[in-house]
Amino acid sequence: MNVIERVVEPGFCSGCGLCAGLCPSESLVMGFDSRKDLVPTLIGQCSRCGLCLEVCPFSGEGSGIDDIGNERFGDVPGISLDRVSGFYLSIWEGHSSRGDFRKRGASGGMASWFLTRILEEGLADAVLSAGPDGSRPGIWTFIKAERAEDVISQAGSVYHPVPIDRALKKILLEKEYKRYAVVALPCLAYGLRKAMKRLPRLKEKIVMLVSLTCGLMPNHRYSEYVSLESGVLPENMSHINFRYPPGEADSSNYRHVAFSRDGKQGLPVPAKGLPDLLWRHEAFIQGGCLICDDVFGETADAVFMDAWLPEYKKDIRGNSLVICRSPLAEKILRDGAAESECKVREIDHERLMQSQYETLLVKRHLLAGRLARKEEEGKSFPERRVAMDREILDKYGKYFRFCEKLKAAIEKTRLETFEDLEVFHHLIDPLLEEEMEMRLNGESPFGGNE
Ligand SMILES: Cc1cc2nc3c(=O)[nH]c(=O)nc-3n(C[C@H](O)[C@H](O)[C@H](O)COP(=O)(O)OP(=O)(O)OC[C@H]3O[C@@H](n4cnc5c(N)ncnc54)[C@H](O)[C@@H]3O)c2cc1C
Ligand code: SF4
Ligand code: SF4
Ligand code: SF4
Repeated sequence: MNVIERVVEPGFCSGCGLCAGLCPSESLVMGFDSRKDLVPTLIGQCSRCGLCLEVCPFSGEGSGIDDIGNERFGDVPGISLDRVSGFYLSIWEGHSSRGDFRKRGASGGMASWFLTRILEEGLADAVLSAGPDGSRPGIWTFIKAERAEDVISQAGSVYHPVPIDRALKKILLEKEYKRYAVVALPCLAYGLRKAMKRLPRLKEKIVMLVSLTCGLMPNHRYSEYVSLESGVLPENMSHINFRYPPGEADSSNYRHVAFSRDGKQGLPVPAKGLPDLLWRHEAFIQGGCLICDDVFGETADAVFMDAWLPEYKKDIRGNSLVICRSPLAEKILRDGAAESECKVREIDHERLMQSQYETLLVKRHLLAGRLARKEEEGKSFPERRVAMDREILDKYGKYFRFCEKLKAAIEKTRLETFEDLEVFHHLIDPLLEEEMEMRLNGESPFGGNE
């Protein structure tokens, strides 16, 4: 068995790239499948060594998320544990008040500021974070940052799979000894922890794991769609700023802007409206995300997210929430606050959960219904920490059927030219009316007419 048979073929891959980065026979390469999900494919002889399965977050092999959380944080003095958010030493809300971090960051700039402090305090020699792959337009990758200005240039959120395979190969082969802080989405953070248990050299090199709260990852087709909406042909797109500031006093209505290869900026596309609706209804979402139950990067030392709270709605400068799990992460935050590099205050757990209401709905509550649907269809899936629930499937039956209809319709359309985009809108419009009706009738989990 390898990940192709166990994870990719049944549609459970998140595109993290760990398997391709660590396969000893270099038999796996990352590429897009027919849906434009990022997945590994087998290009060489597989020796059936099983390493890819040991590290993959969706193989069901090795220690689970709860076990790893417990091993890493269970003995931290003063730590608390919640069944859904994992371990937490302290939770904070606020923003960075140093330089341009807040302005350049996706929300309050706290993640980039935190990563910069790690470098400045000599706790790591370099940071691995996400940025556009200069040599492959329209693709994002992990980039090594050794200076504050490199970290800040990679601020922002990448709503496109970012595989770690190439970066991992490089850091494992490098001759000089370097320690890394890595910023990884929850699935990758968990897979990296499994890999660090298996490969001592990796454990020596990764000294801090930082995560982002994650509410599903769109696939490459979402980028093509956004690029067209932004007025840039996908074949000419170099990258997208997925968190261009909002044009109105609503922090959640950030915009996506595509850039062409000759450096021209496209039109801002408000996230609220069609992009958000497609995301919520599982269109363009990587397969693995639809069975993912880790909202808060439970195996990471610190986790950063948007402060989706009513008080911050009108503050378009951006605000973040931070969970500290390791004492070192908490110290960095407290020192930064004492030195006025960030303006933060400690909050309680309930406020954390309130801020992620919708992500929890999608990745925990509705997951129980999605799993029941899989079981009904006789499809197997790796063990999840959320139990399947037929009542949720029945309650939102119309919503689940709608998601499937939307996905099937979208998968049949091309998104390469502006004419394709017109056809796409023509196809989607009647479905939008159906979705609105569902909300008005209380048949959608996303409530009434917002
Ligand atoms: C797919 C996705 C879904 C998300 N869903 C939610 C959600 O449901 N709720 C919520 O509150 N927040 C969510 N976030 C997190 C949010 O978008 C911000 O990243 C977070 O608020 C941190 O903002 P900041 O200003 O502190 O970080 P910044 O200062 O902007 O720094 C962010 C750091 O993360 C790195 N990074 C960005 N994208 C990726 C990526 N895909 N993989 C690895 N590293 C990356 C950047 O390179 C940078 O180093 C999501 C992020 C992603 C990528
Ligand atoms: S089983 Fe081993 S050789 Fe085969 S793909 Fe996985 S890691 Fe590579
Ligand atoms: S989830 Fe990651 S490790 Fe698993 S198959 Fe996909 S790319 Fe490989
Ligand atoms: S939803 Fe889960 S599987 Fe998908 S990118 Fe986020 S953490 Fe990974």
